[in-house]
Parts: sequence; structure tokens; C-alpha cells
Amino acid sequence: MDPKKLSLSTKAIHGKKLYPYKGPVSLPIYQTSTYRFDNSDDAVRYANGDTSVYVYSRYHNPTVHDVEEKIALMEDGEAAALFASGMAAISTAVMTFVHAGEEIVSTPALYGGTYRFFRDTLPGSNIAVQYVDPDNLAGLDRLITKKTKLVYLETPTNPTLGLVDIAQVVARVKKAEKKFHTRIITMIDNTFASCLNQMPFRFGVDIIMESATKYLGGHSDILAGVVISTQPIIDKVKTTAKYLGGCADPFMAYLLFRSLKTFELRVERQNKNAFLLAQLLEKHPKVQRVMYPGLKSHPHHALAKKQMNGFGGMVTIEVRGGVKAAVKVCDSFNVAVNAMSLGGVETLVSIPVYSSHVKMSEAELKRHGVTPGMIRVSVGVEGIEDLIADFEQALKKI
Ligand SMILES: *Cc1c(COP(=O)(O)O)cnc(C)c1O
Repeated sequence: MDPKKLSLSTKAIHGKKLYPYKGPVSLPIYQTSTYRFDNSDDAVRYANGDTSVYVYSRYHNPTVHDVEEKIALMEDGEAAALFASGMAAISTAVMTFVHAGEEIVSTPALYGGTYRFFRDTLPGSNIAVQYVDPDNLAGLDRLITKKTKLVYLETPTNPTLGLVDIAQVVARVKKAEKKFHTRIITMIDNTFASCLNQMPFRFGVDIIMESATKYLGGHSDILAGVVISTQPIIDKVKTTAKYLGGCADPFMAYLLFRSLKTFELRVERQNKNAFLLAQLLEKHPKVQRVMYPGLKSHPHHALAKKQMNGFGGMVTIEVRGGVKAAVKVCDSFNVAVNAMSLGGVETLVSIPVYSSHVKMSEAELKRHGVTPGMIRVSVGVEGIEDLIADFEQALKKI
């Protein structure tokens, strides 16, 4: 192998081909913070906007770039920006498109971090967030004003797995854009479904974000987030990312790339396991309610069939006996793991009032539909017999 071609000179890595040499099958990790210029003209070329010159890894890194290209393809988007976490992806995208004095309209049942970012951080920048009732999206026509720059939605929602009609949100935003002669960005958090089960660009959404910590990463070993959109939107997001600094590092990107090779296999199995588990638990005497979009009893089952390609790996159950019973069950599992987060190959369980919705007021809990007896289950890829046996023995403890 020509050692020069393996060097990190801009000539070896810029342009279309990441692998100009006969070399590794797996993605090389460009574990570098900075890049050697061929000569000082490279710095001038970069300053003049030549994007093929690599200068610094907060701006761009070939390992990170390859993952971005792959995820953009998976989500059916033009381009993607990878971040150090899902929250970095969300905050960077939001701050790219919404400024002081402008407004966001959002669905209310959000990931806890997003909800708190909207509630506690954005007001300090004079950005207000209005919430629309997801079961009455006509409210958007009233809530969207001249000041609205972003409509944000999450579906399925955490932890009740309620759905929001994506096509209807987009249609109402388009109507408002005409009315106010403004551009309003629609952004969806697609983490719970993941792109195997939901492809929001088909419904006209502008920006998709996913916490790649969850299904894309899938092994509970990395933090990552991604924003996918058109090239012009991603260019803007990346400019903000340079200054907010939540960029991805090459080693994480390598691990994520590795995970993506089994993404489809994992999530197909999780869908299947979740469906079987949800059906079984629905008949269990100690379980009061099962929330899973694939069940006929789910209030948004028809919408799930319309806008999702699969029902996902998340199941929420409500056990009889409130939080005490939920604690008993969660502390009794042998296969499932009592831990926060979701989307990994191992089944994780958590109690929303102790985790995502901890320290929320009664009114907030009510608004989010969260009750003390809820257990959120992120179903893994284990053998379904083992999972079922584990749930049966744990539920016996109450
Ligand atoms: C975990 C999660 C996030 C935040 O992602 P991090 O990678 O933890 O920063 C955002 N949205 C949803 C739905 C999530 O589950």
C-alpha cells in the first residue's frame, strides 16, 4: 500500500471516494483533531469556501462524514449532521432556525430533555413555546402566528406511545405559511419509531432528528444524535454546530457505523418481540393497560397503520397497584434490565415517574398522561420465551 495514500493529506480524503486505496473493509477511524495541509494555499482555499479542504474535526471529519451519508440514505434525506448526543442535535437545530422574539409550536408529550430545554432554557433567549393538543390539531391554525418559525413534533410519544398525525401537521403548517407569507420549518423527533418504522420525509416534514443513542446505535454504548434534511438546511445546522460545539467524535462515529450494519436485523426483531409481549401482557390480570400502537385497543391504531411501517419496540404497561407495584416488578426482573434509555439489544425497563417525568407537577403529569403505575419497556432482541417467562415471574411478585 502506498503510504502516501494513507496519509491524512487533504488529497487522500477529499472528494467522493473515501477509500482511494485497496484497504480496509471496515470504516477507518480518522482519530485526529486537525489535518495536515499540502501547502498554505489549502488554508486560503478553505477560507474561500472550498469544502473539500479538511481543516479541523469540529468542522468535519471523514469518519463522521461517512456515517452522516449513510444515515441520510437510510432516512431518505439529502444530507445529515451527526452530533455528540440527541440533545445536541435538537438544541443546535432549534437554535439554527428560531431566534429571540420568535416562537415554536410543539406537541406537548416530548422527551423529558426536550421538554425541559423548551421550558427552562429557551425563555432565557426570549423564545416562547406554545403547545397544541395532539388530538385536536386544528388548534395549530390558531397557535401558529407570524412569529412562528418552527413546528416541532414527536411521535410516538414518551411514555404513553400516543401518535401525532404527521401529514395533518404538515398540511396545517403549509396553510399557515401561505397565510403569513413566511417559512415555517417542521421538525420531528423520530427516535421512538426509528427510520425502519417511520419515514417522515414521505409526509413532507423538513427536518428529522433521531437520538442515535437509541435504535441507530442499538447497543447502549454510545451517545449520538443526528439531524437529517436537505443540503441547504444541513449546511445551516452545521454552521451553528461549529459554534455550539456539540459535534460527533470519530470513535463514536465508527461505533455507530458498525451498529448500522445490523440496524434492520435488530429493529425487525424488536418489533416482533414487542408485538408478542404486548399481546401477552394485555391479557395479564396484574396489568391494567398496555399501550402499544400495534394493538387494536390502542386509540391511534388506525393512524399507526397509516403512517408507520412497523409498530416499534417500545411498549408501556400500567400495573395494578400504582408506583409501589411498578417498583416491585422492575426490581424483580432477571432478563430485563432496570435502566433508563431505550433502543438497545437488551430489554430495558423504567418507571416514568422516577425517570423521564421525575419531579414534574401533578398538572404536568396529567397533561402528559403519565400515571405512577406505568412501566416503560424498551424491548430487546432476546429470545421471546425468556422475556415472557421473565415478565410472568416479575408480575407474580405483586
Ligand atoms: C434519548 C432521547 C433524546 C435525547 O437523546 P440523547 O442522545 O440522550 O441526548 C431525544 N428524544 C428522544 C425521543 C429520546 O428518547
